[in-house]
Amino acid sequence: MNATPRLSAADDLGLLNALPIAAAVIERTDEGALKVVAHNSRFVSAVEQSSCTSLDWNDAECLKAGAIAELIHSFFEGSNTAGELDFKDGEGVSAHFFRLKLAPLPKIDAPSPRCLLSVVDRTVEVQAERTLRAEMLRDSLTGLPNRLAFTEAIEDAGANVARDLEHAVLVVDMLRFSRINESMGCLAGDELLITFARRLILALRAGDVLARTGGNEFGVLVSLRRGVEDAFKAAERIQQVMASPFRLSELEIRVECGIGVALMTAGQDPEELFRNAQFAVKQAKAAGTPQVYEPRQATEARRRFSIETELRRALDKDQLKLFYQPLINLKSGEVAGFEALARWTHEDRGEISPTEFIPVAEESGLILQLGRWAMDSAAQTLAGWDRDAGEKLPLYVGVNLSAIQVARDDVPGLVESALKSSGLSGDRLTLELTESSIVQDPARATRVFDALKALDTTVAMDDFGTGYSSLAYLQRLPIDVLKIDKSFVSGMMVDPDAVAIVRAVLSLAEALGMSTTAEGIETVELATTLATLGCASGQGFYFAKPLEPNSALQYWKTRRRA
Ligand code: C2E
Ligand code: MG
Ligand code: MG
Repeated sequence: MNATPRLSAADDLGLLNALPIAAAVIERTDEGALKVVAHNSRFVSAVEQSSCTSLDWNDAECLKAGAIAELIHSFFEGSNTAGELDFKDGEGVSAHFFRLKLAPLPKIDAPSPRCLLSVVDRTVEVQAERTLRAEMLRDSLTGLPNRLAFTEAIEDAGANVARDLEHAVLVVDMLRFSRINESMGCLAGDELLITFARRLILALRAGDVLARTGGNEFGVLVSLRRGVEDAFKAAERIQQVMASPFRLSELEIRVECGIGVALMTAGQDPEELFRNAQFAVKQAKAAGTPQVYEPRQATEARRRFSIETELRRALDKDQLKLFYQPLINLKSGEVAGFEALARWTHEDRGEISPTEFIPVAEESGLILQLGRWAMDSAAQTLAGWDRDAGEKLPLYVGVNLSAIQVARDDVPGLVESALKSSGLSGDRLTLELTESSIVQDPARATRVFDALKALDTTVAMDDFGTGYSSLAYLQRLPIDVLKIDKSFVSGMMVDPDAVAIVRAVLSLAEALGMSTTAEGIETVELATTLATLGCASGQGFYFAKPLEPNSALQYWKTRRRA
């Protein structure tokens, strides 16, 4: 209110009429009534035209009791200094919206307190705001709520969990939409989207909310009366309504959709819930059936757990196999030996990589059983080859030993017993240990390494360069071979730093009197470069992948010079 109140009551009317808005001077009588002392003509029309019943003062020129009267009272009493009130008069389309403002008037002639009441009719403004908002919340092509409105609907549903009604969000993605759009044009694409949306509506139940949340993506908020089952039923209904072909300008096309489901949890952020459903859509596309979102940790933990259980069973049933990857003498090109690598083909899941099951075995302790099996089995295979050939073949076999085995098992004991039962001499075995087996307990590692040397076996440091072993230990421990990790080897062709590291490892090995093996040689260029740099041996897909025992022996024969 920027008009300065005038001092005389007689001038009130002049003041009011000069104001560009509806205004009145209100006085609180000694009896506590709110008397309209003066008002301008705009005030009358505001009150009359809008049938502003709450402002009615015909009753002895006094304002009726109600929210507005209360506001004025509290203003006079000083408990509401803002003196502003928005209120709505009437319902539905005939509703009017007002903003009331109060400003104190100085007590001059009048003994009772007075104030200036102004009334602004905001009906047009409010309606414009609402239309704009509705516009903002609507997708203009399909007329459906848009992503913003959908998020709000999820939020409302989340606030309504009082009745124990749970909700789920389905995200429906129309597959291969961009192809149709590109080949048939945007208009056809738009038409398809509209038809798709119409069909989606057919799949809804009362109370479900459908929204277009992206170009070819729709969101459905469903309430779960009978639990998760309802979400699956909704997905099923959606697939049913999409089953028949769509007619698009003379053409009949089939439209498939991916459906992802996410279940609402208490206090969840609507955006997060929606993203979860989007994530489930990705999985649904890959799987070809609707998928329910599961938190990643839960999925991973479950997989780990089931791998552990099934690995235990596979070990008991002797279902693991050892494959043998040739280790090539880079100078002569002959096979010097093989690395034994565990392979597990699961009945349902297919091949499971050791990079997945070895860590599970280590965590669960199953690695002790697995490690003993691998040692025995590798020794038996090599001894079998000797037997079949009727001679001691110029080959060795490398067996991996986990740091957990070094820490918890009697490694020298198990190696010794494998040698004994196979009849092999120690020099036919190379034990591949990693730097982590030293780091954990160097004193114990020293005893184990020394004991392995006493058995005449070869000790190799696997994945060299990825761990944290100190040079002091490298020097002190009886290590015969450094196996350069494949991350450095495969980086050599593109990364000068990787070349520098490989060179450094090669000269370090030379200085310490160790031999070297490069892992992960995938190209002829790498093989020649490493040979030129003086690396003694190598393994990698360029030569051969890990092979089953018979093929491995065959491979050795074909590369044999003599
Ligand atoms: P590792 O001991 O470093 O074995 C070498 C890995 O590199 C093998 O992976 C092998 O298949 C792979 N490899 C060899 N050449 C190439 C190549 O040119 N390119 C690429 N990309 N990879 C190549 P794999 O068989 O998946 O084994 C992974 C790891 O699992 C092994 O790494 C080893 O640490 C562990 N592991 C496998 N079998 C056993 C086992 O019986 N006992 C223990 N303790 N660990 C094992
Ligand atoms: Mg290895
Ligand atoms: Mg390695």
